[in-house]
Amino acid sequence: MSKTSIITGITGQDGAYLASLLLKKGHNVIGIVRFNQKDKNVKGLDYLGISSQVKLVPCDLCSDSEVKILFETYQPDEIYNLASQSSVKQSFNTPGQTLIFNTLSVLVLLEAIRNISPKIRFYQASSSEMFGKIPNLPILEDMAFYPLSPYAVSKASAHWMAKNYRESYGLFVACGILFNHESYLRTRDFFVKKLICEILEVANKKREYISVGNLSVKRDFGYAPNYVEAMYLMLQNDKPDDFLICSGASISLQEIAHYICDHEGIDRNVIRIDPELFRPLDIPDMYGDNSKAKQTLGWKYDLSFFNVLDQLIMEEKNNWSET
Ligand code: NAP
Repeated sequence: MSKTSIITGITGQDGAYLASLLLKKGHNVIGIVRFNQKDKNVKGLDYLGISSQVKLVPCDLCSDSEVKILFETYQPDEIYNLASQSSVKQSFNTPGQTLIFNTLSVLVLLEAIRNISPKIRFYQASSSEMFGKIPNLPILEDMAFYPLSPYAVSKASAHWMAKNYRESYGLFVACGILFNHESYLRTRDFFVKKLICEILEVANKKREYISVGNLSVKRDFGYAPNYVEAMYLMLQNDKPDDFLICSGASISLQEIAHYICDHEGIDRNVIRIDPELFRPLDIPDMYGDNSKAKQTLGWKYDLSFFNVLDQLIMEEKNNWSET
């Protein structure tokens, strides 16, 4: 019999790619949207051509009673919990909302699993931002957290709650600690998408220059469609655990900016540093070790981020008239 999988955060980047993967695996996919969005067109699902195959269900993930009805109605085998206020930058502007939603929704889901359906397999979307101030690189799964933003604090709290439910109640709770991953479906709130779009706008004479923050920071970037495969593998594994999902190498934001400019034949001087865009606190460099995920889950990843950028630029240009 087909498995039923619930994806929270179905309107986001990862929700769409994960839904596409689970449909290929033969799962029934239920996508959770906010209550006021029941008739929403989900751009990512439309883009991937799978809107008609995903059932969208409105649910307030912070409401015990609504989550209880959700579980009783759909009796899921798996839940992929991707919903969160996911922007580090935004979390400095709305720290309270970020903290409350990103932690309470996880607690409500875990409590519902414990009380209603303890056999449900649960995936929690944890983040490399939890590590923050790191003593040495590469990051490993068992390194201590030192979060440096309200977003990172909220994700660290949710992560520990998830582990606590796994260890205290024996629930199948897996945490994927994902590093930055990009795709055409990213919103322009995020650096790589913003940069590609704005460089294309310069190329199309729609703007003269591009304002950016601190370009010296280095991050471990990957490709979203490959990263959602790891989420799926975590819930098919024999036992629940925590896994770093990353490329294993970091690249500076400056290298990315220069690569896209050069790719499009745009003068690098269109990029202007604006100190107003610097974050209150930033992590200078981070990259992880993905060997546990590769060895235990059989997850495969060997893309250089320059290959990913080629793909992203091509996809953006192919869809340019629609953006
Ligand atoms: P995304 O594109 O920003 O999507 C976030 C999703 O969460 C959207 O569906 C959004 O719904 C939903 N959401 C946000 N606030 C909500 C609220 N108050 N109530 C209900 N739903 C809410 O994020 P993503 O890139 O797909 O990432 C998926 C998950 O992985 C997130 O938890 C993120 O923090 C985590 N993560 C992402 C990365 C990355 O590089 N992409 C790295 C590490 C971890 P609306 O459309 O209604 O706003």
